[in-house]
Amino acid sequence: MEPLQALRKIFQEAGELSSADELLHLIVTRVKEATHSDVCSIYLADEERDDWVLVATEGLSGEAIGSVRMRTGEGLVGYICKHQSLLNLEDGSKHPNYRYFPETGEEHFAGFLGVPVISFRRVIGVLVIQSYETRCFSAEEEAFLITIAAQLAGPLKTVLSQEKLAALTTEDSNDQIKVQGIKGSAGISIGKVHFLAPFNDLATVKDERCQHPDDEIIRFREALEDVKLEVQSGGDKLASSVPQDVHALFGVYLMMLDNDMIVKQTEERIHEGFTAASALRQTIDSHAQEFERMDDAYLRARAEDIRHIGARIYARMSAHHHIIDVPDEPVILVSKLLSITEIAQFPPDKLAGIVCMEGSSLSHTAVLANALGVTAVMGIGDIPRSKIDQQLAVMDGYRAQVIFNASEPLQLEYRRLIEQERKLVRGLEKLKELPAETTDHHRINLYANTGLLADISPGLERGAEGVGLYRSEIPFMLHDTFPTEDEQTQVYREVLQAYAPRSVYMRTLDIGGDKALPYFGFTEENPYLGWRGIRFTLDNGSIFLTQIRALLRASIGINNMKIMLPMVSRVEEVDAFRVLLDDALTQLREEGVEVKRPSIGIMIEVPSAMMILEQLAKRVDFISIGSNDLTQYLLAVDRNNPKVSSLYNFLNPAVICSIHRIVRIAHQHRLKVSLCGEMAADPAAVLLLIGMGIDTLSMSAFNLPKIKWVIRTISRTRAETLLTKVLALESEDSIREVLEAELIQAGLAGLIRAGS
Ligand code: PEP
Ligand code: MG
Repeated sequence: MEPLQALRKIFQEAGELSSADELLHLIVTRVKEATHSDVCSIYLADEERDDWVLVATEGLSGEAIGSVRMRTGEGLVGYICKHQSLLNLEDGSKHPNYRYFPETGEEHFAGFLGVPVISFRRVIGVLVIQSYETRCFSAEEEAFLITIAAQLAGPLKTVLSQEKLAALTTEDSNDQIKVQGIKGSAGISIGKVHFLAPFNDLATVKDERCQHPDDEIIRFREALEDVKLEVQSGGDKLASSVPQDVHALFGVYLMMLDNDMIVKQTEERIHEGFTAASALRQTIDSHAQEFERMDDAYLRARAEDIRHIGARIYARMSAHHHIIDVPDEPVILVSKLLSITEIAQFPPDKLAGIVCMEGSSLSHTAVLANALGVTAVMGIGDIPRSKIDQQLAVMDGYRAQVIFNASEPLQLEYRRLIEQERKLVRGLEKLKELPAETTDHHRINLYANTGLLADISPGLERGAEGVGLYRSEIPFMLHDTFPTEDEQTQVYREVLQAYAPRSVYMRTLDIGGDKALPYFGFTEENPYLGWRGIRFTLDNGSIFLTQIRALLRASIGINNMKIMLPMVSRVEEVDAFRVLLDDALTQLREEGVEVKRPSIGIMIEVPSAMMILEQLAKRVDFISIGSNDLTQYLLAVDRNNPKVSSLYNFLNPAVICSIHRIVRIAHQHRLKVSLCGEMAADPAAVLLLIGMGIDTLSMSAFNLPKIKWVIRTISRTRAETLLTKVLALESEDSIREVLEAELIQAGLAGLIRAGS
């Protein structure tokens, strides 16, 4: 069999499996088959024990799984790991490194071919085939196994990263299990696991026909009404604990429950003869899949809401609904997916954390957890209930890690961190009313990034002095069609009013790249180098003009708005925008609406804009550095691509040197400079930005207090010295090391964890 054919078969069958050991078993079975060998085995790294363990075999005795272990350099497998190269031996037992394990029964086998499985330059395991016959494997067989090992590195890495190994090789449910998930809500927590078993899974409902459609309709409608009441009461319970805009999420659920698409289509399917459950499953599937197909991550995450709604209605219909017992002490809730209504059934003081086996950081579950200040980790993958329920777990929301059945010393360490964090938060609250000023009295403006109306109040509550980046594409992304001028005017005005008289930097539509509009699809070979930001809006003049008019109208009588252009890469773009702005102002004047001309600025996100900054500077009133895109384009790294994302680092010397240059040139032209990418929220990077003399930092509201603390702790002179030192360094690691040493010395050690 060709390697590709064998691989295709493995990947096809793997889709149907639900556990890591099934996957490992599938691999050894199929590889043994395809190579016509007598044994195929996989060894994987066990980092906890610092050795290599046999995790699957077809041909050796099954009892050896989990018990045959070798250190690096020990035995043939250890030899392969140490030298990172394959071994092809006509008789393995003759090799000087051979070590005999009686439990394997391998004395029957002579021929041995082992290849390392390498992921991102690190050996993570070894794939071995063996034969009864005394013979070397052929060059073709070698090539086959190398190809298979290279392709399986990804899946095997996943097995390892979820540390299923511990669960695989032991039946002892008290073993510590550490899992890596996706960030949901920051924080550190410790508590007993409260496992919420999913109700009967709607996804497993088969297409069944019914006898009495009218009865099914009644069942469906009653369930729908019950869920509406449930959502309503969930919302009421949390009304005083979360900001109004997060509370509005419950309204979104209610709207979905009233949505014709769900109600009507389900009822139509019942009339076609399906049971209520089958009809509901079909409707929910088709809507959720529509969202799941979308490129935009935010919209994709909305599929979760639809599935939650479906699950709730189904639970009510199948009478599996039960009132959740509220525990006496704070617990870590663990489930496959948790909806906001399920979370609302727990008083916030009884929630130590939230862990979902599925889900993303953009889910409303994560939004609610953030608003409640509850640590949340999403997408950890399947874990059997029996191994974790009622056991103690610790959560590190900063690193998106959960450790179930945590050992005593680990618990102690985490309790110490929790105490440290409590002190940090208490200290930060006191800073709210104080200015962001260095110890030698240099003032820096601290602004919030927003895009959702839901983000307005957290910014104000945390002392934001304005909005440094309003991502106007977000309201566009939440619509079904391009929002009208009036609709846009209304949304923009709400933000401007909420912050007045503080400044709001409205960025014009920045779609393209990873941000797509569901109603204006286009595919590109290379979207990040394609129709993005100002390129898109200038080519779609009427959309742009409508937005500019809406922005101008929204600011009438408030006058705190500035307009900022994304993805500028050439002077002609700014000139073309100025013509459009003039047109919009003239039009409005002719319509009898007098509007003041706002300040205009550009984002520096593309290297070419940085190189022609002098020419651009003559045309604008301010500069804002988009460090996310600038880093990606300078380093040619897509940070959403897992193969290269580890190379994405804004502390790279090239990025630091570029930002320093931008600030210098802007100041020479007497322009204020802000920075509004993620870098603005990194305490270590902020030390450098203070040293460069940055005027404004804009970040998500959550990060404002800690960055204010950094600014108020250091002097500008000290930051300048640090900058000089860092500009002479050549690697990202050495730069971070110097900056973190400075944070520790300044008494800001607690922020190193929070910033990472
Ligand atoms: C940036 O690129 O740094 C930025 C703030 O813009 P966005 O993240 O919205 O692309
Ligand atoms: Mg950007």
